Amino acid sequence: MRTIEMQGTIKRAPTPPKVDLDGPVRFLKGVGPERSKLLARLGLNTLRDLLYFFPRRYENRSPVKKVAELTLGEKECVRGVVISRRLIRTRFGPSIFRVVLGDEEISVEASAETPLLHGTWFNMPYLTKLFEPKAQVVFYGRPEKDGKHLKMVHPEYEIFSEGVATNSPHSGRVVPIYPLTEDLSQKGLRQLAFQTVEECAPLVRETLPSPFLKRLGLKSVHFSLKQLHFPEGREEYKQAYRRLVFDEFFMLQVLIQMKKAKLQKENKAISHSGGQELVRRFIQTLEFELTPGQQKTINDILADMKKGRSMNRLVQGDVGSGKTVVAAAALVFTAANGFQGALMAPTEVLAQQQYFSLARFLEPFGIRCGYLAQNSLPEEKALVLSGLADGTLQVIVGTHALIQENVRFKNLGLVVIDEQHKFGVFQRAALKEKALVSPHFLLLTATPIPRTLAHTLYGDLDISLMQEMPKGRQPIRTLWVGQSKRAEIYQFIDRVIAKGEQVFVVCPAVDAKNLSVKNATESYESIRRIFSHRRVGLLHGRLKSPEKKKIMQDFKEKKIQLLVSTVVIEVGIDVPNATVMVIENAERFGLSQLHQLRGRVGRGPVESSCILFSDAADEETVRRLEAFTSISSGFEIAEKDLELRGAGDIIGARQHGLPELRIGDLVKDAKVLIEARREAIALVEKDPTLSRLENRLLRDAIRRRFASADLKKLTVTA
Ligand code: ADP
Ligand code: MG
Repeated sequence: MRTIEMQGTIKRAPTPPKVDLDGPVRFLKGVGPERSKLLARLGLNTLRDLLYFFPRRYENRSPVKKVAELTLGEKECVRGVVISRRLIRTRFGPSIFRVVLGDEEISVEASAETPLLHGTWFNMPYLTKLFEPKAQVVFYGRPEKDGKHLKMVHPEYEIFSEGVATNSPHSGRVVPIYPLTEDLSQKGLRQLAFQTVEECAPLVRETLPSPFLKRLGLKSVHFSLKQLHFPEGREEYKQAYRRLVFDEFFMLQVLIQMKKAKLQKENKAISHSGGQELVRRFIQTLEFELTPGQQKTINDILADMKKGRSMNRLVQGDVGSGKTVVAAAALVFTAANGFQGALMAPTEVLAQQQYFSLARFLEPFGIRCGYLAQNSLPEEKALVLSGLADGTLQVIVGTHALIQENVRFKNLGLVVIDEQHKFGVFQRAALKEKALVSPHFLLLTATPIPRTLAHTLYGDLDISLMQEMPKGRQPIRTLWVGQSKRAEIYQFIDRVIAKGEQVFVVCPAVDAKNLSVKNATESYESIRRIFSHRRVGLLHGRLKSPEKKKIMQDFKEKKIQLLVSTVVIEVGIDVPNATVMVIENAERFGLSQLHQLRGRVGRGPVESSCILFSDAADEETVRRLEAFTSISSGFEIAEKDLELRGAGDIIGARQHGLPELRIGDLVKDAKVLIEARREAIALVEKDPTLSRLENRLLRDAIRRRFASADLKKLTVTA
């Protein structure tokens, strides 16, 4: 019965509103062409835009005091009556305009014992015309002593010709502060917001049915818009915020779920029916036992690839948790089924290393591996390209070169993206286009992000977590020291090298690439002088590909004992005999980056250390470096990083094609996000295209809200 009723109301549109929410802001009183332009600069073109333009923060401007009640120090609201005003023009200096405000209409003579408030403005002579004697005014400012009176310099003011208004947007309440553009005053914008909320909020149609709102304890959209702009109290604000955040997350999640439903219908499957026996044999020949996390992840992957739909799985595992071998198992599986696999890594150094590890893992099983980078030698390149095209190469490892035009696969079945957080979505999409049908995607990352966030960013990804480290790992001792300890540290390093172990020294990236190289080169020169009896190497991004390869190879073979490097070694490098990581200018690195670097040591059975050089003393850096020395789990580091830096920075939400959110924070409002996602899944399951009558308003709202977003990028299978 209820649905019929609801459908009835939807069909029978109410008498058309006088104001069109999607009409231009010019509709509003006091908005001419000039102001329209300013508003447009903030992206505010329609009344609806204004309504959804939310305050950046609030100021509590209640109560409104009398002059006699003012106290020094805090900003306050005060009401009074204009007793006198005066414009002082100095010949060369500024003009000064002063208004004398009292609690009642009193003559200047009577003011001797009454406290008065002087409002003072510099270079605003036109104010004289506004402040008529006896006018009621409200000031908001910081009261200061002015002889035996008080003063406020450049207070915000309101003037009422007919008594003090009881419902002002600017005083006597919690007042919104909006993000501004030049030439648009806070007060003007607030006035507009007030007017818009009063006139337009009641016209916004509820997109969610009331039983739904009731079940989730959500307030009406009308109430929420009103309270978010001009909250009557903390509780009202919270309810309003929750409703509007829910709306935004819910619409986004519905959209994601609709895309997912559509993709699953269209997705042509690559069938992986056999080949498990080979994977089993592969695992048996490993010289170590898989961790439970690795085992479970491999099971997840095989199950996905057999399903007849393409896999989209993200593997989150801390640095050193052993993601490569998991990728190898997936590659064995795809090869056993007669398909090719590609692994893309973000840097050449890492790609080379992955190539060596994978070739070592896979070639004993008759799986041929190749390597491709931008500056591979032409004849090597040609060989690899023809091998991929005719299918004689089964696995290719490389950098962005893999997504270049001239790479053709015979039958690409699996794409593995290592350190996927380093890649944009475009690059993933480009690899997909190399395949005839949707390949399976396996994404590896050492940057754990909360699951709900991952679901939002990656749309329809499934996630595997690898929480434990392989057995026998030693904890890494982390030390933060100043320059004064350099000699001592160098002695320590020398003892380590004497034991046959190896050392990294990493220099920070400087804005200009050349400078980072210079930085590392200088460090290298000085270290080489000090460690003249040791074999010291230098690695940076400017080196030619074969040189890089040689240096990494030399380091692996212990021909180099001490490797000075830029952050090219940040991700993935695996040399278990390296036991000391020295990080120069550690203050230049973010937490996650530090963690990645530290993960380059502690990979063997010997105790390792990470030494941070930094003399920075600012509070933020101290907090970060101290956190780093005391936290070892990558998951905790990621959480701390989120806390210190906020979500946007870390995940680069824009890069993921996520539309900009108007309200709400993917991390702080995770609880609402989870709720919204759950409801969205349920809704789309019932009505995958939102074509039912009761969902039409929602569908329209989603279209309107996300019309401009680049939604093609939003899903991982794109
Ligand atoms: P990451 O997850 O950082 O990519 P890697 O795949 O590079 O880690 O693995 C780190 C090191 O741990 C490698 O030397 C790898 O051979 C080794 N390793 C991987 N899994 C295990 C395991 N289950 N037991 C022991 N060592 C392992
Ligand atoms: Mg790795």
